[in-house]
Amino acid sequence: MGMNTCPACAAAEQDPRTGLFTHGCRECTARNLAQSPAAHRALTGQGADDLRALIVETWGQADYLDGRTRVWAWVERLQKGK
Ligand SMILES: [Zn+2]
Repeated sequence: MGMNTCPACAAAEQDPRTGLFTHGCRECTARNLAQSPAAHRALTGQGADDLRALIVETWGQADYLDGRTRVWAWVERLQKGK
């Protein structure tokens, strides 16, 4: 499911802090993980193991780096607030 077909992703384009997520959409999952306590811990130097595990759970070990890139892109975007 891509940006063109996911209504929650379309909403997030307008407002990254939208509470809308589509189950099974990787981009939504990345946005969700970016707002998770695990991401907060990783950001604040309390350890990234939880976040890493969640990313692997969703993307798989083979696509871990892709997932990581997507999650951190959302982290940065959410910090900017737009
Ligand atoms: Zn989505």
